[in-house]
Amino acid sequence: MADKFDVIVIGAGPGGYVAAIRAAQLGLKTACVEKWVNKEGKTVHGGTCLNVGCIPSKALLETSHKFVEARDHYDEIGIEVGELTPNIAKMLEFKEKVIAKNVGGISALFKANGVTALEGTGKVISSKQVEVTGHDGEKATYDADNIVIASGSVPVEIPPTPLTDNLIVDSSGALEFTEVPKRLGVIGAGVIGLELGSVWSRLGSEVTMLEAMDTFLPVVDQAVAKETLKLLKKQGLDIKLGARVTGSEVKGNEVVVKYTDSKGEQEVTFDKLIVCVGRRPYTQGVLGDDVGVKLDERGFIFVDDHCRTSVPGVYAIGDCVRGLMLAHKASEEGVMVADIIAGHKAEMNYDAIPSVIYTAPEVAWVGMTEEEAKSAGIEVKTGSFPFSANGRALANNAPDGLAKIVADAETDRILGVHIVSQHAGELIAQGVIAMEFGSSAEDLALTCYAHPSTSEAIHEAALAVDGHAIHMANRKKRK
Ligand code: FAD
Ligand code: NAD
Repeated sequence: MADKFDVIVIGAGPGGYVAAIRAAQLGLKTACVEKWVNKEGKTVHGGTCLNVGCIPSKALLETSHKFVEARDHYDEIGIEVGELTPNIAKMLEFKEKVIAKNVGGISALFKANGVTALEGTGKVISSKQVEVTGHDGEKATYDADNIVIASGSVPVEIPPTPLTDNLIVDSSGALEFTEVPKRLGVIGAGVIGLELGSVWSRLGSEVTMLEAMDTFLPVVDQAVAKETLKLLKKQGLDIKLGARVTGSEVKGNEVVVKYTDSKGEQEVTFDKLIVCVGRRPYTQGVLGDDVGVKLDERGFIFVDDHCRTSVPGVYAIGDCVRGLMLAHKASEEGVMVADIIAGHKAEMNYDAIPSVIYTAPEVAWVGMTEEEAKSAGIEVKTGSFPFSANGRALANNAPDGLAKIVADAETDRILGVHIVSQHAGELIAQGVIAMEFGSSAEDLALTCYAHPSTSEAIHEAALAVDGHAIHMANRKKRK
């Protein structure tokens, strides 16, 4: 007789592994199927996030940032370091160690929580059965009262720039360059382009980014986006907006990219090209024929607000369903679904999911931008504060950026918090908590913040909403 589980999760990325652990914690007999195999041929947990996404990219972002800080900025604060050279092989080794520690941690958590780890490719063959094809091709069928699909996403490929072995690569390839490309092309000035473009630019590449849209980071509050563009250009990133890539040609060790912009047809030659134009849901081979799980028009698994698919007992979470493609969004959906399966009431607040771009300075936001609120017909009031007027930011030699709060003009409720600054990815947590608790701008303004801290810029932005910022000469008239 087939093994029977209360829950089988397909995929052990941040959506799937978190769902599995939570389900097991709630007393459900749980299995999690994963097909990812690392370079050593070992099945590994953690999905895109731990293996080729969030974690390895942040390891390289941090090491390359430290290098630039030491090379270009230590002398400003009185530390003489002499000539510095990045050791790429060692940086990659460090990145691999960080991946291994994180991935190993998930396996240990599965063991500690009693999650059965199944190795191979999972396929939903009925609303209560999952077939697992092992790496050796052997098939086994498992019964489950509930199934959670967390199969993730893969990079989008575009016809003008088909990937090659090592010249035209996606984000995974860009984490593996063994030497610094002299001329690096990046297609797409989105999150991945900016992060990985920054890594290689810091290490010495001349980076040219070709972005089809005329607006830089349209999803980001435009006051923050404009400041970010200015700062990144100053660092040497050549960001070309309104540049549509039409073709590419590999010539020996170079790649020639053709694009059109407002001036007409252009051509540029690179030593490496990263294609990062978005990701698409990955559902290949996950759904058996006639199971009845519907996809939407863009290929995402169709789910309701509680991640229920069109088939009772089958749930889907993370990058393979609608919404932001972020690890923490996937994980929170995993928690919600496990709670629901265990019979608890659970909700997810999709309005308070933070986003962070880990450039230097970082860009972080939660909730509505000023532009979004206005186009939704909401009358808003805003408060901004520059980090150049924050004592701790000056002491940190990191005075770039600003914090901005968007509040409802009538109720004062915070609609969005937007930051570009050093550690914005940490600072944004207070905006998320404020929004989770339905805070007004005044609530933050009346809160006591530690001094000196960069968090005080959020405090000042909240005060500025009603024109009461303390450390800003040019403030609005007090009410
Ligand atoms: P995934 O992490 O993609 O995991 C899906 C898993 O399912 C995979 O392990 C896959 O092998 C497995 N799978 C698929 N089909 C099957 C099957 N049939 N059987 C068994 N297993 C299967 N997000 C952030 O929030 N912060 C960041 O800083 C960040 N940085 C990123 C940097 C890069 C370069 C990239 C590419 C992405 C980054 N992301 C970041 C996005 C983040 O990685 C994803 O949003 C997140 O991994 C989605 O989690 P998931 O569990 O839905 O899917
Ligand atoms: P993205 O959507 O952030 O950016 C893609 C960019 O490519 C867009 O600006 C788009 O206009 C541009 N583009 C699309 N087609 C183009 C073309 N033909 N020519 C030129 N430009 C083109 O996507 P991404 O950067 O690939 O990242 C994918 C996902 O991964 C994102 O949704 C993000 O949520 C996630 N991610 C998150 C983080 C993070 O949280 N820090 C980091 C990396 C990735």
